[in-house]
Amino acid sequence: MIDSHFHGDSRTVEDYEKMSIGGISEAINCSYYPYEIIKPSILITHFKRILYFEKERAEKEGIKLNVALGIHPANVFPKYKPVIEEIKKSINEQEIVAIGELGLETMSCEEIDIFTKQLLIADETKTKVIVHTPRQNKLNVIKKTKEILSENIDPKLVAIDHINNAVLDEVIDEGYKVGLTVQPEKMTSDEAIIILSNNGFDKFMLNSDSSYSKSDVLSVPKTVRLLSIEGYRKKDIEKVSKLNAKNFFNL
Ligand SMILES: [Zn+2]
Repeated sequence: MIDSHFHGDSRTVEDYEKMSIGGISEAINCSYYPYEIIKPSILITHFKRILYFEKERAEKEGIKLNVALGIHPANVFPKYKPVIEEIKKSINEQEIVAIGELGLETMSCEEIDIFTKQLLIADETKTKVIVHTPRQNKLNVIKKTKEILSENIDPKLVAIDHINNAVLDEVIDEGYKVGLTVQPEKMTSDEAIIILSNNGFDKFMLNSDSSYSKSDVLSVPKTVRLLSIEGYRKKDIEKVSKLNAKNFFNL
């Protein structure tokens, strides 16, 4: 299985071990810093930690860690240009599988500016993006996000994440891959299964988004187990828990 969006740097080594025992062989670690960014070197050091420290920590427990680096909307700050340069460097050196996570939280001008700049780099370099959608004001933020995406990037490069039933209609026919985050405060396995059952398995990727917030590092294996018990086809289960992510991110 592949957990297509999580934050291993916020978790313990026991969590990596648990994921591995639960059948997760690969994960995508997105960047997100949990505290105020007062200078670019904080975020750049965070990137390097994921690339060179977390990768090794995960691999020791049997998990291949793929890395996505980007400026999360909660991490926007004025002097971000050196961070953008660092992202470009990581793309050139093929260290990352996507820019992410990026997106909007409050729709401030600063957020929109930094989001757009990252999308333009992704479009130019044909790099995939993992787009965050917020808990608050979700529908309106998704509408604005779509508007910015449509002006700046090929939809085939886009995975839009943390989608739930209330906003699914906004994104399902836009050509994006759709991330379903099964997490105690976001969505249950049963809710994810209803979405899959109603919309097919081709467009979706399951993830736990395990982070500093309340998380379940086993949410992907638990959802797979339930799908299997409920009699869904093995081929379909494999799509949402592995193959769609593998193909989209070229893993
Ligand atoms: Zn995340």
